[in-house]
Amino acid sequence: MAPREYCKMISRSKPGPGDGGNTGSWRVLRPIIDLEKCIPVKTGKKSCFTCWLYCPDCVVTKTIPPTIDLTYCKGCGICAEECPADAIEMVDEATEIVKEK
Ligand code: SF4
Ligand code: SF4
Repeated sequence: MAPREYCKMISRSKPGPGDGGNTGSWRVLRPIIDLEKCIPVKTGKKSCFTCWLYCPDCVVTKTIPPTIDLTYCKGCGICAEECPADAIEMVDEATEIVKEK
């Protein structure tokens, strides 16, 4: 298959939020957005949203500020890896659960 056609197929893939299923309790790392570093929050403009674009589970909102639906987030860390402002930190899930209690 020619590379061009392959790209077209990829662009037709439109996952819906939560299509990957409820994460349950197996996530090991949790993404936390540092709003002081997040570009749309800092500028007040609907820009960047690289985290929204790259999240394979489609669970990041394209809003100011962007939010992450942890019910479906798998903790893969792609958003943190791709964020141009280094605004997303992957933290230990178990530690966060203890903090919430
Ligand atoms: S990729 Fe980083 S800077 Fe861009 S919207 Fe997401 S958290 Fe903010
Ligand atoms: S850790 Fe993975 S699944 Fe969770 S918001 Fe980031 S890219 Fe999406």
